[in-house]
Amino acid sequence: MDVLRELEQARRACHDAGRRGRLGLVPTMGALHEGHLSLVRRARADCDTVAVTIFVNPLQFGAHEDLDRYPRQEAQDAELLRAAGADLVLLLQREQMYPKSFITRITQDALGETLEGAAREGHFDGVLTVVAKLFGIAGPCRAFFGHKDFQQSVVVRRMVADLELPAEVVVCPTVRDTDGLALSSRNAYLSPEERAQGLSLVAALGAANRAFLDGEHDSRALEALMLETLRAGLGHAPDYAALVDPDDFSRPAQARAGCVAVVAAPVGSTRLLDNHALGSPLGPFAHES
Ligand code: AMP
Repeated sequence: MDVLRELEQARRACHDAGRRGRLGLVPTMGALHEGHLSLVRRARADCDTVAVTIFVNPLQFGAHEDLDRYPRQEAQDAELLRAAGADLVLLLQREQMYPKSFITRITQDALGETLEGAAREGHFDGVLTVVAKLFGIAGPCRAFFGHKDFQQSVVVRRMVADLELPAEVVVCPTVRDTDGLALSSRNAYLSPEERAQGLSLVAALGAANRAFLDGEHDSRALEALMLETLRAGLGHAPDYAALVDPDDFSRPAQARAGCVAVVAAPVGSTRLLDNHALGSPLGPFAHES
C-alpha cells in the first residue's frame, strides 16, 4: 500500500492504475471506522486498484461547525486501510487542494438546498466541489459512498449525471453498532448519556418502518411518529424528520417501499444524521431483542 502526500504523485499513481485496470475511489475525511472500511472492502471486491482519499474538506464545514476539532488519526487510519486491502492512500493537504488561486464552486439547485442542505447552508456545494476535484485527480471508474449520508449520495449521483462525469457511483449499506447507532466519526464526541439520546434517531426510523409495514402509508403520519419518537428520546426537537422520494427528495403524500426516512438532530454539541429505506429490515439491535 502506498501512502501519497503530494498531489502530483497521487495523480500519477491513480492514472497509472486507471490505465492498467479498474480504479475504485473511496473519498473520506479520515477517523476511519467499519462504515468506511465496508466501502473499501466493496471497492476491493469490485475493482483492480483501490484508492482512498483522506481529506477534511474545509469547504463543506460551516463557519461555526467542527472543522478544527474534527478527529484526525492518520497513522491508525493507514493501518486500518492496509488491513482492508487499499492500494493507494491519498493524504491530501489543504494548500494543495485549495491554493490561493482556487475560486470555483459546484452548486446544485433544489436537491442541494433541502433538508441537510437547508440545515447546513453551502454544505453540499463544498461536498460537490471536492468530489469533482477528487474525480479530476484520480479519474476513478467507480466511486464508493455510504447510504449513511443518503442525501450526499443522491446529490453526487445527480452531479455525475448532469455533468456526464465518467465515473459510476456505488452506494453501500449503512454500518451500525450493535445498539443500532449508525457508525460515524463524530460519535467519538458523544458522552454515554448523549449516545443513549442518539439512539432515538434509529428508534424513530424503526418506528416509522414498523408502522409502514403494518399498513400506515400516510407520509405525514409517519413523519409525525418520527418527530414524536425523537422529541421523547432527545428532550428537544430534531432538525428534521422527513420521508423523501429517493430520486429527487420530493415529499410524497403516500409512502411506498423504498421511500427514505431521513432524520437529523443535534445531540449535545454533536449533530447526528441517519436514514432508512422503508420496507427493508432494520434491527433488532442488542437492547431490543
Ligand atoms: P466521511 O469520512 O464522514 O466523509 O465519510 C466517508 C464515506 O463513508 C461517505 O461516503 C460516508 O457516507 C461513508 N460512511 C460514513 N459512515 C458510514 C456508515 N456508518 N456506514 C456506511 N458508510 C458510511
